[in-house]
Amino acid sequence: MHQLALDYIQKLLSIPSPTGFTGMAADYLMETLQGMGFSPVKHRKGGVWCELGGEGKGLLLSAHVDTLGAMVRSVKGNGRIRYTHIGGWADSTVETENCLVHTRDGRTYSATVQSTKASQHVFGDMNGDTRGENTLEIVLDEVVKRKQDVEKLGIETGCFISWDPRTVLTGSGYLKSRHLDDKASAGMLLALAQWVAEGKVKLNRRVAILFTVFEEVGHGASMQLPDGIEDILAVDMGCVGDDLACDETMVSICVKDSAGPYHYEFTNELIAMAKEKGIDYAADVYPSYSSDTATALRAGNDCRFALIGTGVFASHGYERTHVKGIENTCRLILAVLA
Ligand SMILES: [Zn+2]
Repeated sequence: MHQLALDYIQKLLSIPSPTGFTGMAADYLMETLQGMGFSPVKHRKGGVWCELGGEGKGLLLSAHVDTLGAMVRSVKGNGRIRYTHIGGWADSTVETENCLVHTRDGRTYSATVQSTKASQHVFGDMNGDTRGENTLEIVLDEVVKRKQDVEKLGIETGCFISWDPRTVLTGSGYLKSRHLDDKASAGMLLALAQWVAEGKVKLNRRVAILFTVFEEVGHGASMQLPDGIEDILAVDMGCVGDDLACDETMVSICVKDSAGPYHYEFTNELIAMAKEKGIDYAADVYPSYSSDTATALRAGNDCRFALIGTGVFASHGYERTHVKGIENTCRLILAVLA
């Protein structure tokens, strides 16, 4: 299943979808799931729900397709753009990144995030400034010399800005890209749906998938879940770094994050399944992380809840995972529901 997931992941990564501007990604999900023979539902808020079939205790698998990005905060007098953050990211991670500016009437322009002192030959020392909204700006690839020139292009306060994902799959199996959080997981759920549609997976219980679109700003799965959903399994990135056992080749099982401990029995079941099937996993604690399970619980749903995902290095920057991590995550998903 993971090879199919890789194809879907790369397709999803190519569709710009900063939080608040996820319509194209949702349309792709709807068309793809309908093409498989399912009857997905697009929520008014913008997310996509799809019942995959099966009977008995309902399991919901969720992933989010909204990503980090930015919005035009204002257009400067010289035609450069001041941005405002969408989601939580460090400004240093976007310096010199290519991007797209999406106007509200459907036009798209290419641009680059640059330092306000972008030339070594003009400004000398470029290292001194802390990177932030005042020291970085968006430079359009259009001949614009003043604010009015930019406004004529339809670019104004409120236009969305998406980063170039720069997706690269290396011969050694690393997948490098922005927005692996959480399109890596969304691609896996699409691959699962296709396997169910093709009869390659027999579901041992009722299974639904949910693609949320406001996770990065904290209310992705804030909704009343349908009757019968007893377990929520968020499929979202695992963290890689200091004090963590997970790396890019493993599936992470999160035991506690900033919202507190994950459900004891459900998490135990996942760890036991990983051990039994020989799936390479790491159980880790993420103090600076929160998932869509917390938003679903705070909305009043009474469910068991857990979080798994492929290990992602440099999260919320130029991220990296590995084909083996995607494979281990797919195997754990299949262990839960087949
Ligand atoms: Zn995420």
